[in-house]
Amino acid sequence: MSTVVIEEGSTAHRPRVTGPPREVDLAAAQKAAGEMLRALGLPVDGADMFETPRRLVDAYAELLTVPAFDLTTFVNTAGYDELVLVSDIPLRSLCEHHLLPFTGVAHVGYLPGGRILGLSKFARLVEFHARRAQTQERLTADIARDLETRLEAEGVGVVIEAEHTCMSLRGARASGARTVTSMLRGRLREDPRSRAEFLALTRESRGGR
Ligand code: ZN
Repeated sequence: MSTVVIEEGSTAHRPRVTGPPREVDLAAAQKAAGEMLRALGLPVDGADMFETPRRLVDAYAELLTVPAFDLTTFVNTAGYDELVLVSDIPLRSLCEHHLLPFTGVAHVGYLPGGRILGLSKFARLVEFHARRAQTQERLTADIARDLETRLEAEGVGVVIEAEHTCMSLRGARASGARTVTSMLRGRLREDPRSRAEFLALTRESRGGR
């Protein structure tokens, strides 16, 4: 978080959210990528694959660049205290064990406390956390904790379902297998009624699976 804009007479609050600092040396990465591909027996010195080390590095650099955004929240002037759920937010990330993509959807919900979140910011928040090398479990927990803290929410729930290409394309080759993770915080965890409502709604958006 670097800058905070509070407009006079407005209930909106727009902190700029930025990712952790990361040192990137593209030239060193390209050299190393060329060596790795050569060691794997690929003709990277031929005309067809000459540019591949650079493209590979550029692709990973892009996938790992955490996009900054303004996390717009509003004072909950209406005192809205029912569940807000945004489902089927597209998600793509990289598993930290194989550096292969996992893709799927996130369902993110919360019970408002002091502040409510601008609706378009759910997808931004998911992308902000997704563009890193990590595990699905950690991604789920990070989104939930971040939302809970920033919104002073009464409760937060995050469900992620994703297909891991490290599992579908190689290894077990379990094509179509989906991994589901969830993290519930606050009242969505403690209160059975809220918890059941959240899980039922996310299950509905999963087509009752
Ligand atoms: Zn993996």
